[in-house]
Amino acid sequence: DAVSGGIDPRQSRSQALRHAVAAFSQAGIDAGASDARFLLLHVLGITPTELALSGAEPIGEQGALRLGEAMLRRLAGEPVARILGEWEFWGLPFILNAATLVPRPDTETVVDAALALHTTRDRPLRLLDLGTGSGCILVSLLGEWKQAFGVGLDRSHEALACARTNARINGVGRRAAFVAGDWCSALGKPFDVVLSNPPYIASAIISTLSREVRCHDPLGALDGGEDGLEAYRRIVREVSGATDGRPLLTPDGALVFEVGHDQAEDVLRIGREAGFARGSVRQDLAGHARVVTLAGRPP
Ligand code: GLN
Repeated sequence: DAVSGGIDPRQSRSQALRHAVAAFSQAGIDAGASDARFLLLHVLGITPTELALSGAEPIGEQGALRLGEAMLRRLAGEPVARILGEWEFWGLPFILNAATLVPRPDTETVVDAALALHTTRDRPLRLLDLGTGSGCILVSLLGEWKQAFGVGLDRSHEALACARTNARINGVGRRAAFVAGDWCSALGKPFDVVLSNPPYIASAIISTLSREVRCHDPLGALDGGEDGLEAYRRIVREVSGATDGRPLLTPDGALVFEVGHDQAEDVLRIGREAGFARGSVRQDLAGHARVVTLAGRPP
């Protein structure tokens, strides 16, 4: 029956898909139709085109079993990206593990903002991604800037292992290094572009996030401290060299942050107070001020 996720192996692939869509809609899952499709393609290991051409074929024993299992996990509240163990970002595949956040479409605004920077140099660009997680920001940018080199920093070794794989499968492994560390601590060289999608949810409101986020994304990737702004303060301080007199950013470099939907003004102020001469904001597709770029670092 639909609720148990039980799939009849004699059903066609299209019937099985309709069955899954109905079960998800009955369970009140938003985006149930697209989730069902993702799961079916995943368990069969086929592309959307292949599915369109083979919808009348029976789903088979293996397919029925695997789809049934995947449906049960989805019905139990696991996000589809976790069940797949991979997700798409910037049109590229990224594998995930328990230590990495599922890449969000909003975060593509960070990549957009970086690509819009004036970054012509007479040498290869150097990028630094703080809290790289799955590596989605850094890997996407290295894919766009074919001459650039990048360092991804994360305090989780498990996340770094994931980011390294993602760099390799997306063909930028030779231009990326992944380093364990707490923010900027161990890094010497100045970088042209420093990027970060740091944890930015105020600790007190973590408990109000959806179950899918609260129970399936790593808390360390979300918790931004008492007011949600701690990581920004810390990064801005270190990037401008306030801690050891060696700025992480070249004088003409830029710091590109993802921010929470109501944090842009605060982060602009943090940058101004630290001596950044310029700050700008970029909106995500939903119209939220999603990215703050700081430039003109203090000398
Ligand atoms: N940089 C990664 C991403 O954007 C991880 C961010 C995080 O864990 N806060 O998905």
